[in-house]
Amino acid sequence: MLPRLEIDLPALESNTRRVVETCRLRGIQVWGVTKGVRGCPRVGLAMLRGGVEGLADSRLPNLIRLRQALGDPSLMLLRPPSPAQAQEAVGTARVSLNSEILTLTALGLAAAARKVEHEVILMVDLGDRREGVLPGDVLELARAARRERSLRLAGIGANFACFGGVLPTAESLVELVELAGRVRMATGASLDTVSGGNSSSLPLVIRAAMPAGVNQLRIGEGILLGRDPSTGEPLPGTRQDVFRLEAELIEVQRKPSAPCGPVARNAFGRQPVHIDRGDRLRALAAIGVQEIGAGTLCPASGGVEVLGASSDHLVLDVTAMEPAPRPGGRLQFLPDYGAVLALMMATDVCRQYRE
Ligand SMILES: *Cc1c(COP(=O)(O)O)cnc(C)c1O
Repeated sequence: MLPRLEIDLPALESNTRRVVETCRLRGIQVWGVTKGVRGCPRVGLAMLRGGVEGLADSRLPNLIRLRQALGDPSLMLLRPPSPAQAQEAVGTARVSLNSEILTLTALGLAAAARKVEHEVILMVDLGDRREGVLPGDVLELARAARRERSLRLAGIGANFACFGGVLPTAESLVELVELAGRVRMATGASLDTVSGGNSSSLPLVIRAAMPAGVNQLRIGEGILLGRDPSTGEPLPGTRQDVFRLEAELIEVQRKPSAPCGPVARNAFGRQPVHIDRGDRLRALAAIGVQEIGAGTLCPASGGVEVLGASSDHLVLDVTAMEPAPRPGGRLQFLPDYGAVLALMMATDVCRQYRE
C-alpha cells in the first residue's frame, strides 16, 4: 500500500480563519502562501474560505495552477521574477515582489503590452540577506517603478528568517514603516502596502508588538502547520495536524541499537552517530527520503521514535509502543514543512483530502 497523506481541509480553513482574525484585529491583511503545497488549489480554496486577501506563491507554474482551478483569485508572485519571466508574471499575478530595476522595466513593458496594470511591492533586505535592496537603495528602486506607467508602486516589504535565520523585530519593522514614509514623500506614491514578512512575524502580532503601519503579512507555515517556524511553537488556537502521513510497517524486530562492524559513510555520505541503548524493538516503515525529501516526520502517537531514513526506509524505535506493532500495521506521522513540500510532489504517495 502506498504511503497516504491526509489533508484536513476544514482544519486548514479554521487555522486560516484564526490567523486572519488575529491579524485583522491589528489592521493587517493576510495573503495565504501555497508554495509549501505546490500551489494545490484545494488548499488555496480552503485559505480563501478562511478569509485570506489572496494567494501567494514563489513559482509561476503554481500560480497558474491556482488560477486555472479557482477562477480569478488575487495572486501574488513571491519570488522576484527574472526579466525574461516578466510577460508570464504580469499575465498571471496581480502583484509581484521585486528588487531589480531591470526587472521592473521588463514588467512595465510587459504590462503595457498587455494593457494591464501590474502592482509591485519593492523588497528591502533588513538583515536576512536573501532578496531585497539595502535600505539606502530603495528610493532609486521606487523611482524606477514610478517611471513605468503600467506599474503601480503598491508598497514595500521585507522577508525574514528564511536564509540568514534573522528574526523580524519591532525595530526592523519600524525601519520598514519609516522607509515607506520616505518613499511616499520622495515619489508621491500612495504606497498602500507595508508587507512585514512571513509566519515568523506572527509572534509580534500575537504579542501586540507589531509596529503600526505594517498592514500585510504573507503566511504559509503558520496556516498550514499552525506553528511559528522560527521556534516551532504552536500558534494559539490553531491545529498542528492538518497534514497526517500514514505509512506501512514492513519489518518489526528486536535488534541491538548499535551497529556491528566497521562504520563508514551511510547512503547520504554522512557518518552516522549511534547511541548504544542495548537491544531495542525496531521497525521499518515503507517510506523514505524519496517521499519526505530533506524534511522530518514526528510520530503522531506515543512510543515511537524516528531514528532516521534512507531513500526508501524509515527506521523507527518502537520499544515503548503498547501493544507492540506488527508487520503490515500502519503508523501515523506529522510531517514538517519540508516533508509536506516533498510529499505534495512525490509521485507514489496517495493524497486524500478531508472535506
Ligand atoms: C515563503 C515565503 C513566505 C511564507 O513563509 P512562511 O514562513 O511559510 O509563512 C512569505 N514571503 C516570501 C517572500 C516567501 O518566500
